[in-house]
Amino acid sequence: MPNVKYRLANIVLKMDSEKKILILGVNGFIGSSLAWKILKRTNWKVLGMDLGDSKILHCLQEKNFTFHRGNALEETGWIESAIKECDVVLPLIAIATPSLYVKDPLRVYRLDFESNVEVVKMCVKHSKRIVFPSTSEVYGLCPDAEFDEFESNLTLGPVAKERWIYSCIKQMLDRLIWAYGKHENLKFTLFRPFNFIGPKLDDINNPKEGSSRVLTQFAHNIINGKPVKLVDGGKQKRSFTFIDDGIECLLKIIENKNGCADGEIFNIGNPGMEFSIRELAEMLVELIGTYPKYAEAAKNAKIEVVSGDDYYGKGYQDVPRRVPSVKRAEKILGWKPTTDLRTALKLTLDYHLLGKDYELSQ
Ligand code: UDP
Repeated sequence: MPNVKYRLANIVLKMDSEKKILILGVNGFIGSSLAWKILKRTNWKVLGMDLGDSKILHCLQEKNFTFHRGNALEETGWIESAIKECDVVLPLIAIATPSLYVKDPLRVYRLDFESNVEVVKMCVKHSKRIVFPSTSEVYGLCPDAEFDEFESNLTLGPVAKERWIYSCIKQMLDRLIWAYGKHENLKFTLFRPFNFIGPKLDDINNPKEGSSRVLTQFAHNIINGKPVKLVDGGKQKRSFTFIDDGIECLLKIIENKNGCADGEIFNIGNPGMEFSIRELAEMLVELIGTYPKYAEAAKNAKIEVVSGDDYYGKGYQDVPRRVPSVKRAEKILGWKPTTDLRTALKLTLDYHLLGKDYELSQ
């Protein structure tokens, strides 16, 4: 049994200034956790937009939260007036699942690129600060031991490997925002999440083979007696970051004490949590085995090796490893990740297997 030392923050921080934050995609993995933490820890107001509200039901009762249900591709008028009335804009709407980059690159392009370009332009037009989600994917196949925001090269595979469309889109948006910052005074911060994990990542009871993130897919397969599929043997590594650590960092970015985050780029990740995908699978089998209802399923878990082409299609190319340098966030924001992988997995499994949501006690 892992020793769950995770302590819930119970101090309500009254941040020095009141702000109104617009979160587009507030019902997503990052958006829902961010909205909740803002409402619990600050006196800021949140205006959120999304297609659905399944992950923000607990936010809906909060007096500082306003929700608008809508489709960002169709409601640009609403988005523009929301931007006008807010101080900080977080456009979190995007498809961020590798299999969809390969299967439906045009859908990824329309949603992730075209609709976000409009949001960036509206922020320029109305002089609003944008906190934009770049991605660890922008570093692509960069060989550096740790990726540095201002030094590492962004290295992508060939065009025929469609996996890179997402990385390329995000890189272009990073460069566009950077240029607007330099030439038209756009106030911005770019942040790059590294494999965030946590309870509300995807639904483990309803994953779509090949289109859910690895943790969700593995947990689903183990508890349902399906084989865990290790793409290309599972030697590839990721640095997993517990959502709560990531959100703490985002809170500091939004707070922007003395303008410290203006014009900055921050990796948000946990360099100490680098594990291979095989190690992740093995740890999940072990942890799931500690829940009495699933002990038998964990004991019988099977691990299979599959090729990337078979699992995702020909346009797939994997990233062998991806480790962030978080020195910049530490130096400028005074932030460091603190949650280890076992704790992060345990809290995620408690949510899915026991219905316990650590966020609600915050
Ligand atoms: N992966 C795997 N089996 C699965 C799903 C994913 O081996 O059922 C691998 C995938 O090839 C990649 C890693 O797990 O190397 C992480 O995949 P994920 O979709 O979580 O996102 P990525 O880190 O690639 O953006």
